[in-house]
Order: sequence, then C-alpha cells, then structure tokens
Amino acid sequence: MIHFLEVSKVYLGGRQALQNVSFHLTKGQMAFLMGHSGAGKSTLLKLICGLERANAGRILFSGHDITRLKNAELPFLRRQIGMIFQEHHLLFDRTVYDNVSMPLIITGKSTENMRRRVSAALDKVNLLDKAKNFPVQLSGGEQQRVGIARAIVNKPMVLLADEPTGNLDPSLSQTIMQLFGEFNRVGVTVLIATHNIKLVNHSQHLLLTLNRGRMSVSTNDEKEKNNI
Ligand code: ADP
Ligand code: ADP
Repeated sequence: MIHFLEVSKVYLGGRQALQNVSFHLTKGQMAFLMGHSGAGKSTLLKLICGLERANAGRILFSGHDITRLKNAELPFLRRQIGMIFQEHHLLFDRTVYDNVSMPLIITGKSTENMRRRVSAALDKVNLLDKAKNFPVQLSGGEQQRVGIARAIVNKPMVLLADEPTGNLDPSLSQTIMQLFGEFNRVGVTVLIATHNIKLVNHSQHLLLTLNRGRMSVSTNDEKEKNNI
C-alpha cells in the first residue's frame, strides 16, 4: 500500500529531515511512527500525502510512484488519505456536521448521500448527538473525534495521524487509539506518528522508529525477544 524506497528529504536551508528511509506498509496494516521531536515524523507523513516533496528515492502509493505526480494530480492522492492532526484544524464558525461534511462537498455527492455518510462517520466516533453543536461547545477529546470523523467521511483506504493524542489525557488517548484499531480491523491501513511510548508498549503493530531522520523497523515481539 505504502512503499518507501531510500527516501531522503532535505529542507531549504539544509536540514536533512529524512535519510535513506525505506519501509513498507501492506494493505490493512497498522503501524506506529515513533521518534523524538524533530526526528522527521511529520515530514514522513507529509511526503505520503504530497504536502512535501522528496529530494531522493521513490514513494509508492497503491503501486503508483507519487514522487512523480504533478501538482494537479495531488488532489486525487489526498482523497484516498484521511489525515488527522494534533491540532484538529476544525472551523469554529461551522457546526460539527458542516465540519465533517467538508471533504464530501468537492466530490459532488448528493445531499442525501452526504447526510448518510456524515451520520455514519459521526456515529463511528460516537458523536451523532453533537452534530448541531459548534466546536467550542465540545471537550478536547470530542473535538479530536470530530477531526477523526472528518478524516474518515470519504472512506479513505489510508489513515495518517500526526500526534493525534498529543493534547489528551491517558484515558481519552486510549479511546482514540481504540478507534484507530477499529478502522484498521475493517481493512484501513493506519499510520500513527507519536512520541508517546506508553501508547505503543505492548502493541502488536509494526513499529517504525525515526532517529534524526534515519529509520529502523521492528515489532514489540522482537524487542522482548532481544530484551531491548
Ligand atoms: P512477514 O511480513 O514475513 O509475515 P513479519 O511481519 O514478522 O514477517 O516481519 C518480518 C521482518 O520484516 C521483521 O524483522 C520486521 O521488522 C520486518 N518488517 C515487517 N513489516 C515490515 C514493513 N512493513 N516494512 C519494513 N519491514 C517490515
Ligand atoms: P517530528 O515530526 O518528528 O517532530 P519534523 O518532520 O517536523 O519532525 O522535522 C524534522 C526536521 O526537519 C527538524 O529538524 C525540523 O526542524 C525540520 N523541518 C521541518 N519542517 C521544516 C521546514 N518547513 N523547513 C525547514 N526545516 C523543517
């Protein structure tokens, strides 16, 4: 589903954010992207959805080399990806319903189809009863769940999350992680960037760890075997 082959990213000004990064995520796999602040996690996610361009290497998405996409082709890529941020980027002058329906508007779906999709997305994050509220009327955890509903309303094949629990307490973080697990169980490929080791301990999912732009790939099973 997502294949990185010797990918490097250098920012203008000379910062090398990623160095020869290689890994693959198969369809329906879930993985955590770990690493200290500045390790390159956000950069890696941005490369996948075309918000930044790689300087070297190839990135395959569903078998297509997205490092060669023209700018005009990027919207097609992004429509297949649900992005979740630490700052959920909700519009505060729109209702929960309107925030979640935004990705559908450009797809030209009928009003009835949109209504069904938005309701289904809000139902999945358990916020159907808040559809008419404005974001300021919601708690931090609820706002984050609205961001998740907006990310999944298009039924993307891939979900990317950048520190999705960064501002939440441990029990809310667990709830959010369970949600990602549920999407993954129905076949969505999920990649979650976090520096929160506690979220990842005991996870059976793939661990991609960045250290100053270099990646290592492991699983908790391997770490336990090797007493790391
Ligand atoms: P398999 O994929 O053959 O069933 P595992 O998932 O147990 O095997 O992983 C075998 C090895 O491949 C492990 O060392 C693991 O770190 C590595 N690996 C697994 N998945 C990936 C991946 N998506 N990208 C890079 N390396 C991976
Ligand atoms: P993380 O998400 O792991 O905190 P980032 O991907 O945000 O890491 O950053 C990786 C490195 O690239 C850091 O050294 C950061 O300062 C640098 N960087 C990130 N974005 C930019 C940018 N737009 N311009 C220049 N340097 C950047």
